[in-house]
Amino acid sequence: MAAASGRQAGGGAGSWLARYRRQGREALELALTDVPGYAEWRRFDPGPRAPLDERYAALPALTKHELRAHFPAGFVPRQRELGPGLAAGEVEFAQTSGSTGDRVTLVFNPAWWEESERAAWGLNRHARRVADGRHREAVLASPRCVGPGYSPRPLSVAERTIGRHLYVNQKLNPAAWTAADVRRMAQEINDYEPVAIEGDPAYLAAFCRQAGAWGTRMWQPRIIFLTYTFPSRLYRRQIAAVFRAPQVSSYGSTETGHVFMECEAGRLHQNVEHCRVDFLPWLFRHGGPQRGRILVTVFHNPWFAVLRFDIGDVVRLDDRGPCPCGRGQGMALRAVEGRVSDVTFDREGNAVSVDDLDALLADLPGLAGWQLELPRPGQMRLRMLAAPGGRRPGSAQARERLRRLYGDRVRVEAAVEKALLHELSGKIRFVRTAYPVDHAALWRSKR
Ligand SMILES: [Zn+2]
Repeated sequence: MAAASGRQAGGGAGSWLARYRRQGREALELALTDVPGYAEWRRFDPGPRAPLDERYAALPALTKHELRAHFPAGFVPRQRELGPGLAAGEVEFAQTSGSTGDRVTLVFNPAWWEESERAAWGLNRHARRVADGRHREAVLASPRCVGPGYSPRPLSVAERTIGRHLYVNQKLNPAAWTAADVRRMAQEINDYEPVAIEGDPAYLAAFCRQAGAWGTRMWQPRIIFLTYTFPSRLYRRQIAAVFRAPQVSSYGSTETGHVFMECEAGRLHQNVEHCRVDFLPWLFRHGGPQRGRILVTVFHNPWFAVLRFDIGDVVRLDDRGPCPCGRGQGMALRAVEGRVSDVTFDREGNAVSVDDLDALLADLPGLAGWQLELPRPGQMRLRMLAAPGGRRPGSAQARERLRRLYGDRVRVEAAVEKALLHELSGKIRFVRTAYPVDHAALWRSKR
């Protein structure tokens, strides 16, 4: 925490760390005093005399279950009135793009969202240079996650242009695209000349595989933001084959705003102006203490108090010392490793994250994408996508790698398929487990 010298511009006595702690204290006091959804939490609070970290650690985690149970007004501070706020357009109801069928409707404040995004741009040199809040951006993601919404009737470019954003995709699952769809999207991006492209890696990579195979000439944006799902090594490579701009992983959620941003040196830095992050390590056998889950507390959203929200992803702390980019504020991550609900267990019962699997599979010749299905305990099925015009990935080789990881007691199949399966939201999960798994075993010690 060496950056806490008082000499930066705007620093003075209130260095970033002092400001960070003050904002954390204010968020905690506001939630416990004035937000009905946290009434039950007051009894856990050791009180204002206890150190701040101790107070946070004493509180439970907020989950989608509570957000749903207290909708709509449970997390709106008492000083605010939802009716007039909605009428004035200050807030709206927004559905989250939950990837596991557990979507939630929230009270969403667009001004707060934009402020968190603006703060996150400061965490990457390229983003800071080209993003000013007025720049044109083309978005390639599920129409159920972002944009004007899913419509079975094709929408015009005008209907899909909202502010500075053009939402080019209209279908759930890239496998549903026709050649005409891909040509239309390429044409729209070339006509729009966006400064930035924001993509769900699965969708953007599928577009790039096809456009690349045809040799389509593409407009070159100055930055690519990857968000919505885990950015597989395969997808990053396929995108880089078509777009030369730096790829930047942007991490957050509808509930929390922008939480981490990848810097130009490839590490993910915490958006400390916008949120507090508490890291909860997993057990050693599962990759702790560097690997764990995170709880996010949002600063200054006047309409929706989010305290210790369990965002549901696996993260790995960066322990390589100071980042070459020079940023030293808040937490730095080596990676976000995918959803906690997508964690599987190897032959010894230790955690395997989506990132672990991706590292294991990404160099299989001919592989363009993967998805692991677990229909019942002891059974696995790997869906593989083949690159257009390339050699087909070998099933035997994929099976062998998975068998070595998961052991002989698991029956493993692998096959090349036309499509990966998508969720209701249109997101494509890397692991689909069809039976309940107790993921709390990752951090709960047996005593
Ligand atoms: Zn950095």
